[in-house]
Amino acid sequence: MYLIDGRPHECILVDIGSGLKTERILRNISEAGFDLGLVSAVVNTHCHYRHAGGNRRLNKLLGYCEVIAHELDANAIEKGDQRLTKAEIYGQIFEPCDVHFRICTTDIETMETIGLGGHCTIGVGDIDFIPIHVPGHTHGSIVLYGEIDGVHVLFTGDLDEPPTNRRDLEIWRESIQRLINLKIDIIYGGHSIIFEEPKKWLSQLTKF
Ligand SMILES: [Zn+2]
Ligand SMILES: [Zn+2]
Repeated sequence: MYLIDGRPHECILVDIGSGLKTERILRNISEAGFDLGLVSAVVNTHCHYRHAGGNRRLNKLLGYCEVIAHELDANAIEKGDQRLTKAEIYGQIFEPCDVHFRICTTDIETMETIGLGGHCTIGVGDIDFIPIHVPGHTHGSIVLYGEIDGVHVLFTGDLDEPPTNRRDLEIWRESIQRLINLKIDIIYGGHSIIFEEPKKWLSQLTKF
């Protein structure tokens, strides 16, 4: 999970973890000098428990925090689907939470994302992030693409974890292929892994 600093306007989280340590995460953010009142949204890269399980707890602790997810993963988050969120694997309960903004589809050529009501980017202060739909790991997986101080960044969630069935594997490969021509300087992967050679990393994934 990551916190994108859009101060003085707002900060947004990319994933929130399982919910077991949400208090500690917020305390860390606060101790790092951030005003928790500025944490306005959490983008779920996908519906899995270890990424989106803390949505509800986060909303409770902050009062409100907009939950953003792709429409194809949103139902699992809202229903607390134990199987699709993989919560059952960890012997945990996925606490259902409303998804306040559903991302619908992306045109990779024009870099346009269509959210509820039309064109959408996710603004964090002066930075506009583009959510790109990358089905494969889950049907509604997204990555977030943007430029911070001239550096092109991509937040990828679990993009590097291939699906196990053959049909989804093909879709997953196509998703990665579509990202290869983007200008990317650094990749912030799920579980705090950072890749400084994005092209090489993406090319390796296509060979999986
Ligand atoms: Zn996952
Ligand atoms: Zn994960």
